[in-house]
Amino acid sequence: MVMVNFADSSQDTSAEAVAGLDSIYFGAADSLASYYKEVTSGQAVFRALDPSRPVLGPVTLPMSAACDTSRIKKETIKALSAQGVDTTKADHISAVFPNGKAQCGFGGLGEVSGSFSWMPAGFSQTALVHEIGHNLGYSHHERVRCSPGSVTACQTDGTSGKTPMGSGGTTAGLTAPELLHQAWLDPRETVQATRSVHITLRPLYPAGPGIRTVRIPVTGGKDELVVEYRQPTGALDTDKTVQGVLIHRVRDGRYGSSALVHASPDDTGALAPGTVFSSTDDKLAIRVLSATKTAAELEIKRDGDPAPPRPANPAPTPQASATPDAGAEDAAALGARQPYPGSPPARSGSPAAAKPEADLADTGFHSGTRNAIVISGAALIAAGAALTYTLGRRRRT
Ligand SMILES: [Zn+2]
Repeated sequence: MVMVNFADSSQDTSAEAVAGLDSIYFGAADSLASYYKEVTSGQAVFRALDPSRPVLGPVTLPMSAACDTSRIKKETIKALSAQGVDTTKADHISAVFPNGKAQCGFGGLGEVSGSFSWMPAGFSQTALVHEIGHNLGYSHHERVRCSPGSVTACQTDGTSGKTPMGSGGTTAGLTAPELLHQAWLDPRETVQATRSVHITLRPLYPAGPGIRTVRIPVTGGKDELVVEYRQPTGALDTDKTVQGVLIHRVRDGRYGSSALVHASPDDTGALAPGTVFSSTDDKLAIRVLSATKTAAELEIKRDGDPAPPRPANPAPTPQASATPDAGAEDAAALGARQPYPGSPPARSGSPAAAKPEADLADTGFHSGTRNAIVISGAALIAAGAALTYTLGRRRRT
């Protein structure tokens, strides 16, 4: 990350302010790094490009204060290059700027499937995690309300509240589709339900043995419902409104832009024990048989067929609780460590041929380490490869 000033407007560049930025990006707690470390069980590592100088700058951009995000990006990259910083080695560049005169109307801005983020000084951890989430290819996580028995006749109704990408703040983990988008779930941790089956879902966090999510093909296989079970784990999912059995709709394999399917009479949207969610078109019914702190038992019925009976003595270990059918099907469908349908392609693919979102979102990530510094600029926007989302000041995510 880099502190930038304008020719006529500066931010606090005291040692205390620098330490604060170091802490919110890379600190052991309440930081960008700590959040992604926890939700990925250590797979995602955010570190400074130059750990001996985690906060670059301050650099003074040759421009008066203005919310000209393209120019801020361009001038920031130029200034860093002039200081000998090889910005091409960074997966993310995050520019912190004084907003008093610039008057940007956002709490943070990030390229969607890109590398640049703009953070007005004084931003929150939630804003930072959210904007870097955009860089990773996540859209805002919305909630949809569907007509009874349908997963297609739906209307968007605000954000889900289940992830930092949907106004959930940083006490909420990422959703299972968001983890799938970055291949942060091991294929052994997910099963595909193409026929009637009983499933024991363990809570989504932390990583470990057991089934963390069920993927249910719908609309003739074009789309999926991704079911997860959220329970408080460490610092994650501590808010009751995040918890329970959640159903997300994924269209055309785009895991980065799924939506919560509201499945309860109350405002949580979670499917409560004893209740059923159904899709008439898909001849699908999902029933939550029970839910405890450690597991949710689901019965998934396809084509009206009864699910095979559960074992008389269900094994206590989650990994043994999925039916053999589901496990075998999943192994066959996914192969060992194969990408999920719609997940970012391997980086060996031609960048020119890859979709911009997939290519940019995936760059450099699975090596386990991301170099985070900050630059600002407009290249991606100018190229049309990235949308930008604003983070409203009033809605803090
Ligand atoms: Zn946003």
